[in-house]
Amino acid sequence: MHANDVAANMAALRNGISESCKACGRAQDDVRVVAVSKMQPEERVRQALDAGHRLFGENRVQEAQKRWLTLKSEYPDIRLHMIGPLQTNKAKDAVALFDCIETVDRPEVADALAKEMKRQNRMLSCLIQVNTGEEPQKAGVAPADLPDLLRHCREQGPGITGLMCIPPADDPPVPHFALLAKLARQHGLKDLSMGMSADFTKAIPVGATYIRVGTALFGSRV
Ligand SMILES: *Cc1c(COP(=O)(O)O)cnc(C)c1O
Repeated sequence: MHANDVAANMAALRNGISESCKACGRAQDDVRVVAVSKMQPEERVRQALDAGHRLFGENRVQEAQKRWLTLKSEYPDIRLHMIGPLQTNKAKDAVALFDCIETVDRPEVADALAKEMKRQNRMLSCLIQVNTGEEPQKAGVAPADLPDLLRHCREQGPGITGLMCIPPADDPPVPHFALLAKLARQHGLKDLSMGMSADFTKAIPVGATYIRVGTALFGSRV
C-alpha cells in the first residue's frame, strides 16, 4: 500500500473485492467502495478522482463541506456518504451536501433529516447505524431498539434502505457483520455498510453492499 499511488491501491482493492466475491459467489458490482477521505490530503483524493472513483465518505459535516463543495462542482457525478455521527443542528448542511446518510441512530436525527429533505426537496438515501457491540461511547441504535426506530422512520421518514455498523475494535468483526445482516434480513432492508480497510474481505461473504475503505486506499491519515 502506497500513500502516493492511490490508483495502484484502488486496483489492489478491486482485486481483493473480486477474489472475495468469487470465493462466495457474489457479483462484484454488488459491493461498492465508499472511499473514506476524512483527514486525507486533497492530492490523494484527486488521485482517486483521476482514477475514476466517485463515491466518497466523510465523518464530519464541516470538514466535508470544505473539501467537497468545490470538488462537487468540478465532478457533478460525485456521491458522498456521511459516515460519522450526525447532530440535529447539522441536518440542514448534511442534506444539502451528502447523497446518503449512513448514521441515522435516533428519532430526533431522523426527524431533522426528514424535515430538511422535504424543505430542500432533496431525497437522500439513509441507513441506520446499529451499535452491534452495545458500546456506551459509540453512536448507533442498540439492536433491541432498532424495530422502534425503523417503525418511526417508516411512519415519518426518512426512507431507510439499510444498516451500517462499526464493530468494537477489539472484537472479531464477523459476528457483528452477521448480526447486522440478520437484522437487515428480518426487516427487509437491502443495503449493508460494513467492513473497513482491515476487514472488508470478511464483510463481503456476510453480505456487505458498501465497504468503507480509508487507509488501504489513501495511506495513513494526516
Ligand atoms: C474512518 C472510518 C472508516 C475507514 O477506516 P479505515 O480503517 O481507514 O479503512 C470507515 N468507517 C468509518 C465510520 C470511519 O469513521
